[in-house]
Amino acid sequence: MSNDIRPELGLRQIVNVSGTMTSLGASIAVPEAIEAMSRGLPQFFDMSALHRYASTVIADLTGAEAGFVTASCASGITVAVAAMMTGTDLLAIERLPDASALKNEVLMLSGHMVSFGAPVEQMVRLAGARVVPVGQATSASAYQLAGSITDRTAAALFVVSHHVVDYAQVPFQTFVEVAHARGVPVIVDAASEYDLRTFLEQGADLVVYSGHKFLGGPTSGIVAGSKELIRACYLQNRGIGRGMKVGKETILGVGAALTAWKTRDHAAIRVREREALETWLTALADRPGVSATIVPDPTNNPLDRLKVSINSNDARITAWNLAMRLATGNRPVIVRDHEIEHGHFFLDPCNLHPQEKHVVAERLVEELEKAQLSNQIISTPIEEVWLSRERTILNWPD
Ligand SMILES: *Cc1c(COP(=O)(O)O)cnc(C)c1O
Repeated sequence: MSNDIRPELGLRQIVNVSGTMTSLGASIAVPEAIEAMSRGLPQFFDMSALHRYASTVIADLTGAEAGFVTASCASGITVAVAAMMTGTDLLAIERLPDASALKNEVLMLSGHMVSFGAPVEQMVRLAGARVVPVGQATSASAYQLAGSITDRTAAALFVVSHHVVDYAQVPFQTFVEVAHARGVPVIVDAASEYDLRTFLEQGADLVVYSGHKFLGGPTSGIVAGSKELIRACYLQNRGIGRGMKVGKETILGVGAALTAWKTRDHAAIRVREREALETWLTALADRPGVSATIVPDPTNNPLDRLKVSINSNDARITAWNLAMRLATGNRPVIVRDHEIEHGHFFLDPCNLHPQEKHVVAERLVEELEKAQLSNQIISTPIEEVWLSRERTILNWPD
């Protein structure tokens, strides 16, 4: 960390226990990606050949025929939808986002219409397609999916995320069967998944992943699928894909990250993550109003997190006030807070440098001990917290 650029730029040395968050810079890039980018940046490449190299690497890892590197998973969704509408018709590609002459409807389960920081369905609309919601947020059935297919249906998009409604949805295999029975191709948003093969094995036509989440690449996305569909994705570079283009450094970086993924010692990483969880469990043991349990990842990634529940009467602070205090100071610790109003947050060990687990433990103890000494319970109404967050967003760059 001696080469840390942050102090030089006057930026805080954030410790990330929230996961792979765009708002914090996604993930720690693997050394192989950093090296490939720095070796490639001073050189010229035949970009179509460089894309072909990446296609081979993606194919090898995913079991697909071919692959394509995009600027992000978000842009991968847009490009995949565009590809489903235009195929390899160059004029149709140039006309997007006007898709009025094409099949332009994309089906999504209502319970999948979530935000990852922006709405997933907006990435579909960006290609010029229209989103057709299927079912209700908390219930969707095969008959509703089948009945929503028309002769204008271009694709069906399935989202895998801890954000989607996790009950009473159409299971993936049924989703594929129903769509394929009517000739509708399936796109999967698997941004944050470790498993690079199963969705394709189960019949997905195009699967989109983030390159900068678990893979540890530079900011990027990868799309995997048949050669014909991936070609149609690649050709979007002559149209709407141009505004989302990737440069040589991104292709080289994600290619190297994928290659490194093949030989990554996942067992050793799990041991290291477990040690972090144990360190935090020990630090939090027997603290008034605090209970901590190890919980598995909700979408079955091989990753456990620590769920920290706060009883504000005994801890003398609410979960969100604690999270906000942890995020301040000169060693800010950012926790995973998407369910904070329920009085709990998570500590995610997947993005830590060695020793940072101790910083997290120290900061937790420090803030919890301070709260114990407080005369009043430290409690800002959650409504105020949320409104003040909105104001903060609108105040940027101040
Ligand atoms: C993170 C995420 C995205 C966006 O991924 P980027 O690569 O950052 O664009 C899309 N969908 C889901 C489900 C995500 O978790």
